[in-house]
Amino acid sequence: MVQSMTSTLTKDVAGTVLQIKQLDHAGCEIVRVAVPDMESATAVKEIKDQVSLPIIADIHFDYRLALAAIENGADGLRLNPGNIGGRRKVKEVVSAARDRAVPIRIGVNAGSLSKSILKRYGHPTPEAMVESAIGLIGILEDFDFQLIKVSLKSSHVPHMVAAYRLLGEKLDYPFHLGVTEAGTLIPGTVKNTLGIGLLLSEGIGDTVRVSLTCDPVEEVRVAYEILRALGLRQRGVEIISCPTCGRCQIDLFALAEEIEHALSSITTPLKVALMGCVVNGPGEAREADVGIAGGPGYGTLFKKGKVVRKVAESDLAKVLIEEVRRMVS
Ligand code: SF4
Repeated sequence: MVQSMTSTLTKDVAGTVLQIKQLDHAGCEIVRVAVPDMESATAVKEIKDQVSLPIIADIHFDYRLALAAIENGADGLRLNPGNIGGRRKVKEVVSAARDRAVPIRIGVNAGSLSKSILKRYGHPTPEAMVESAIGLIGILEDFDFQLIKVSLKSSHVPHMVAAYRLLGEKLDYPFHLGVTEAGTLIPGTVKNTLGIGLLLSEGIGDTVRVSLTCDPVEEVRVAYEILRALGLRQRGVEIISCPTCGRCQIDLFALAEEIEHALSSITTPLKVALMGCVVNGPGEAREADVGIAGGPGYGTLFKKGKVVRKVAESDLAKVLIEEVRRMVS
């Protein structure tokens, strides 16, 4: 399942609700909100009243925030049972979570391993992350709590991948995958795709969160592209377009941009091929639900493998958009 996190102040209920609705529209299925104070914890109730996505409350340091988030209807918690106080406080949180069947995600982050583990391993290695996770899981299991999900995030992709693989050999809890602090859109997409994609291709991972320094709606888009590229889930229009070369006979960049934008709200899986010329064009276009192959001043329109007709270049975008809308209506 595709998860993301709001970037608004959670206590700004209107702003957070608006962003969750945008994420929902983009296909997000679980959303996490930061709960740094009591106002944010109580805001969870007001937010939940206005959205339909499950809300995960992200808690650090103060167990009372976890209790308040549960009280206010949070569907899940993300916390580190090692940093919310002693056993009594953890027990209270676990007891409240159990009463309401609220799962707890143990979020191990390479940047915040305990001093003792770091001393033993020297660096936040995959082994150090796994030892940290096993220790934290043990705290919850001691209270006979098994509604657990685990994440092992690092900004170092090989470490992140190795840590999940290692932990996956040792236990059977669901995993939430993510490369943390992955950066801005292009470098972040590459890191997330490699880390999450490698693991998913091995059958490891249950929920994913692409982490990017930009609008979280982009995180959801990238997550679906990863799932689609691996053949795990299909959502919306897939644009198959060539990079163009000296043989290209139409303005394909502009056409691809216009088509992608115009069809971005469609959720039905569909392939649209946009090819610059007749060399590879007709072959790809025939494999798609609908497509064009460029010619001098026109494009040949293909539909479900069959040539339909020639369309003047100036009408290509309009005709393709109409064809797709008709196909999904
Ligand atoms: Fe070049 Fe034609 Fe291939 Fe596009 S389809 S990259 S224009 S040869």
